[in-house]
Amino acid sequence: MQELLERKKGLRRKVLIVDDEFIEREMLGAMLKELYDIEYAGNGREALEIISKEKIALSLVILDLHMPEMDGYSVLEALKSDNELRRIPVIVLTSEKEAEVKSLQMGAADFISKPYDMPDVIRARVGHAIELAEDTIIIHETERDELTGLFHKEFFFEYGKRIDFLNNNMPMDAIIIDINRFHIVNELYGRSYGDEILKKIGDGIHKLVKESGGLACRFDSNGFYIYIPHNDGLMEALNSQIEKMHESLGDNNISIRMGVYLDDGSGFNMEQRFDRARLACNKLRNSYTTCVDFYNEELHSKELHSERLINDMEKALAEKQFKVFYQPKYKITGDKPVLTSAEALIRWFHPEFGMVSPGEFIPLFEDNGLIQKLDRFVWTEAASQIKRWKDDYGVYIPVSVNVSRVDVFNPMLGCILSDLVNINGFSPEKMLLEITESAYTDNSQEIIDTVNGLRDRGFKIEMDDFGSGYSSLNMLTSLPIDALKLDMKFIRNICNNTKDCRLVEIMIQIARLLEVPVIAEGVETKEQMELLKSIGCDIIQGYYFSKPLPPDEFSKLIK
Ligand code: C2E
Ligand code: CA
Ligand code: CA
Repeated sequence: MQELLERKKGLRRKVLIVDDEFIEREMLGAMLKELYDIEYAGNGREALEIISKEKIALSLVILDLHMPEMDGYSVLEALKSDNELRRIPVIVLTSEKEAEVKSLQMGAADFISKPYDMPDVIRARVGHAIELAEDTIIIHETERDELTGLFHKEFFFEYGKRIDFLNNNMPMDAIIIDINRFHIVNELYGRSYGDEILKKIGDGIHKLVKESGGLACRFDSNGFYIYIPHNDGLMEALNSQIEKMHESLGDNNISIRMGVYLDDGSGFNMEQRFDRARLACNKLRNSYTTCVDFYNEELHSKELHSERLINDMEKALAEKQFKVFYQPKYKITGDKPVLTSAEALIRWFHPEFGMVSPGEFIPLFEDNGLIQKLDRFVWTEAASQIKRWKDDYGVYIPVSVNVSRVDVFNPMLGCILSDLVNINGFSPEKMLLEITESAYTDNSQEIIDTVNGLRDRGFKIEMDDFGSGYSSLNMLTSLPIDALKLDMKFIRNICNNTKDCRLVEIMIQIARLLEVPVIAEGVETKEQMELLKSIGCDIIQGYYFSKPLPPDEFSKLIK
């Protein structure tokens, strides 16, 4: 771009004259050499060599159509099918009317008739062709992504809306393509490799759009948007493009996900169509293989439901629709199980939807940070509950609370928790903190620092869902933890799946190595309990003993 502007400011441009007739070449050269640097080629092949070597410097090609070896038409074709060479304007030399039309159709900028007449006319045509081409490049360079040659999103939406307007809302499909875990590709193989991948996918998209019509853009660092006229063969075309893209990417585990909104005549505008394609695409967010999904109404109503929950959250908190339940944990190392502590679990009694499961709303609130407010509510409730039970029954029942990964980034976390235990007058080890294993693997150093800070304040940390993350043994031994809580999914089949059983045994051995107790949750049967006991599990939580209970029902257990 910079270079182009410089050139516009009066630098000499370079022009390539291609003709097999020596005399004609020289004549043209003589007319132009005062204004331009001239290069010559005697046939098409020679010309292409020079063009690809000098593609940046070259401002114009003047091309004879009839030459031995490789004629002018073939050169035109080669230039037009190359992304980088396409921008170089070509003036053809001809003496036939038919050839003029044909070459203009093939992308020539202009023509000069043989035999040459007025040099001034020729110079004017040359100057004009160069100027026009440079102006279009400047426009094109700002509307297109440099790497892929696809539109930038602003132009994409502008042109798309224009298509809709001019075509009186002809049915259009919206497609979003994202590359899975692209940041990892960049980290592992380097940026230039990542760029290559983007380019290849960009090429595939170019082809698709060329075949089906429509337009496409690079939307962000790893995503592409495609807007094309609705047609029944779309799926077939997409599949074959995906296959080709994969072939071109080679064997490197790079996969893409694709969300599609097919126009069903609902009359949505361009943005609404892409919102829907986005929903379909996001559904595939954690997949490791390439896949395609389509938007449907069910997906949309689910999304609306989620939005309702998010919007209702603050009001629900104010109106006390949230309740904290407690599920007991029993120590099973002695003859008889002994109640040792409880886990605080949130429940939402929604006036319209009834009981909403935390599995449904917690992930939503984690996505947008609302979880911090909710967790703080639970911690506050749990802390005062610990005190109430002590007041009522003379014993402390330690309660563990869940700490979301988002909370870990809150620099006030330690203060908030310390304040709570101080206000209620008990020591910090009565309030246990559950942090999920995957939080450790996501941002290890940050979380280690935070957790160390919490332990310095006297809190005990339980690693939740252990076995579901990817902690290495090496990493575990350096982590600050006080208990391991096995992921429920291993317990589910422990009695009839020897592999799961073996895994649990290994995890228990790891806990021994770290010198911390093991908690198994999701224990539903006597069989599971006894098996766990026999392999050395210390503490058990699950429906076998009790479901999570409201505080007054839990009190009965204490009695
Ligand atoms: P979690 O921390 O792993 O909690 C254990 C889940 O297992 C709870 O589900 C509990 O009710 C359930 N459970 C307990 N025993 C059994 C059993 O024997 N069988 C089966 N099938 N399930 C059992 P719940 O209460 O639905 O909570 C789901 C998840 O939501 C929790 O998983 C936790 O990640 C999150 N959550 C719940 N309350 C809170 C909270 O206050 N704050 C945060 N940040 N997350 C919470
Ligand atoms: Ca938990
Ligand atoms: Ca868990």
